[in-house]
Amino acid sequence: MIVHWVTKLADRIVKERGYNVTIASGITTSGPPHLGTVCEFLYPWALVKELKRREVETYFIFVGDIMDAFDSVPLTLKNYERELEQHLGKPLCRVSDPYGCHGSYGEHFLSEVEKVMEEFNVTLDEIVGSNTLYEKGYYDKYLKLFIEKFDYVKKILEETSLRKLPENWKDIVLPICKKCGKIATTRVLGFDIKNNRIRYICDKDVGYTRGCGYEGYVTIDSHEWKLAWRLDWPSRQDFLKVDVEGAGVDHHTRGGSWEEV
Ligand SMILES: [Zn+2]
Ligand SMILES: [Zn+2]
Repeated sequence: MIVHWVTKLADRIVKERGYNVTIASGITTSGPPHLGTVCEFLYPWALVKELKRREVETYFIFVGDIMDAFDSVPLTLKNYERELEQHLGKPLCRVSDPYGCHGSYGEHFLSEVEKVMEEFNVTLDEIVGSNTLYEKGYYDKYLKLFIEKFDYVKKILEETSLRKLPENWKDIVLPICKKCGKIATTRVLGFDIKNNRIRYICDKDVGYTRGCGYEGYVTIDSHEWKLAWRLDWPSRQDFLKVDVEGAGVDHHTRGGSWEEV
């Protein structure tokens, strides 16, 4: 018998998580929406609909990863290249909106995704930029924990990513450079646990942009930082109390960001 994947997954969700579930999805809005974007909300939406049909209480939240670095000017925005280029390496939520109608580049394209969702009649319970989650302090306690257990965290990261990290590697967190505003080019030098701050230098060359050389501190309270991706995801799933979240197969291969334990 052929069973639709939605039925199969909904069976499993009800069995394992019961009748009150939070379904999460998200995307890095690094440019205009495309076909891949649609999958990020249509698959979870199919599940939400099936769960609702079974009278499961659902909460569908969509996160825009706009703390991620702006790493290239999309081809469709070539007309704005000169204006946008200076922002390469900054978080998407700090790059100015080329169309001037939103607070940032990241927010502009997140709202475009929202428009596409509306066209598909997808209704969300919440759509939020990851910058807001950081600003509200949701990640603070996780960063403190990861700093406290740094050696253990590093060991887990090495084991799950199947690669040895350099001796002086400390990049569990990515500070936003106070001087140039870039997040892609900073490197953690050390943790000052007593004063809740992180010492960093902005000196990385990531190909599409280079650091400005500034060396300084960022405090945890300032929220001028984001967690490394592999730490950001599980933290978010924890504080949002996510029961269900899809991900590409690449995340689930050995060495990917997700490992069954
Ligand atoms: Zn806009
Ligand atoms: Zn800098």
